[in-house]
Amino acid sequence: MLGSHFNTIIIGAGISGLSSAYFLSKKNKDFLIFESSKYLGGTIKSKKIKNFICEIGPNTVLMNNDSVKKIIKENGLLNKVLYPDEKKNKNRYVLVNNNLTKIPTSFYEFLFSKILSLKSKISLLFESFASRHTKNVTVADFIKKRFGNEFHDNIIEPFLTGIYAGDTSKMSARHCLKLLWSLEQNYGSVTMGLFKKKFKKPSSFNFPNGLGELITTLSVNLKEEIRLNTSVIKISKHGDLYKIKTNDNRTYTCKNVISTVPAFTLSKILFDRKLSLELKNIDYSPIDVFHFGLKKKNIRDKVNGFGLLTKKNDKKSFLGILFNSSIFNQLAPKGFELFTVLVGGQRNRNLCKLEPKLLQEIILNELNQLINHSGPVYMSNHYRWKKGIPQYNLKYDYIEDHIKSFLDKNTNFYINSNFYRGISVSDCISKSEFISKKINRN
Ligand SMILES: Cc1cc2nc3c(=O)[nH]c(=O)nc-3n(C[C@H](O)[C@H](O)[C@H](O)COP(=O)(O)OP(=O)(O)OC[C@H]3O[C@@H](n4cnc5c(N)ncnc54)[C@H](O)[C@@H]3O)c2cc1C
Repeated sequence: MLGSHFNTIIIGAGISGLSSAYFLSKKNKDFLIFESSKYLGGTIKSKKIKNFICEIGPNTVLMNNDSVKKIIKENGLLNKVLYPDEKKNKNRYVLVNNNLTKIPTSFYEFLFSKILSLKSKISLLFESFASRHTKNVTVADFIKKRFGNEFHDNIIEPFLTGIYAGDTSKMSARHCLKLLWSLEQNYGSVTMGLFKKKFKKPSSFNFPNGLGELITTLSVNLKEEIRLNTSVIKISKHGDLYKIKTNDNRTYTCKNVISTVPAFTLSKILFDRKLSLELKNIDYSPIDVFHFGLKKKNIRDKVNGFGLLTKKNDKKSFLGILFNSSIFNQLAPKGFELFTVLVGGQRNRNLCKLEPKLLQEIILNELNQLINHSGPVYMSNHYRWKKGIPQYNLKYDYIEDHIKSFLDKNTNFYINSNFYRGISVSDCISKSEFISKKINRN
């Protein structure tokens, strides 16, 4: 059956799809958005359970670019934004001998921190003598060469696990350590670059009802353009136009396509066989997300901070714990604390195959010991992301070349997914504005 013609078709109504639609609509609404599920928001899922605001996907967004600032301001969300309690937010912990230990944030704290040995601290002073990389390497190789093994194992590995749930011995330094890589390339050393360039740490934010508020707000003015429960099953090219076939057996034509779907989905529906084969090689880390609402009075070791990240040799079943209500007290009812525990990733893939009840028991046991909690669990929730976060591994350099040459050949086709040019929500919004402006100019 024939659908109709649109200037642009957006595939997927996660933050990339919805923010693209928002920026496109500044010129006109000659577009349609297809979303395979019955929900909007994709990975952004906020759920209110017993008055706890549980984030199943992202927990915070960085206010680190103009597109994010614009989308918040122009949609009247500025007065709703929740900023974390900054004093607590800068407290990020790792484990040293099974004790929560703060990652130093000042030179003074660094000198006395137990996270690194004296030898390792001294070796950091020699970072500027390490030679510049002439080709991309893994995160582990990059950090170990410049800062030593201990710095990698005790700080960088846990920190990046918190973002990518990845394996630093496979991850690409150029893609996953963008800032450090560019400082090294431009100044010859990271330390030198840090001295020469001034950085302002961007703040992160949420909303009183979770990040879902951003999704709800963006979708209010897009009711006519969104088609829920509609999967794109085939994209083909006919001259200068693209044909989009959906699972309700309709075919639409359009001048521009914005694809926001994961690599493993795009590989199945795309007309270019070569790129499809490459996209299949992008690995996704599985992640299980647990939420626990606990009574404050039952927690003996109070936590104050953003959260805790573990390293490989801590031998914990979880990758990290976010102390949500410590930095945003609005996310838990009075008298309670909310914890989000992330499990799996490349490090513990197999845990994401365990029966959820059994896994919850293991995780809860470890959490109870860590914060000295005894008593019943007031609220719990579990979600399994079988394919959670795309991995920018070393071989990604090669895949990226394929993506670029596909995009060069197929003008007006845009890949705006988190497997291309950044995974954070703020990256997604920034890419959306860039692409939409380009379309609106034509
Ligand atoms: C557990 C977890 C925690 C995270 N934490 C953070 C964080 O704290 N901060 C941060 O900035 N980022 C975080 N991220 C990353 C960030 O959330 C994602 O990269 C981002 O939300 C991706 O948005 P997207 O719109 O590009 O893709 P998605 O959210 O994946 O949206 C794609 C949409 O396409 C739809 N779709 C799929 N196939 C089809 C089809 N054939 N036809 C039509 N529609 C289709 C899907 O249903 C989905 O709605 C986290 C990710 C995970 C998994």
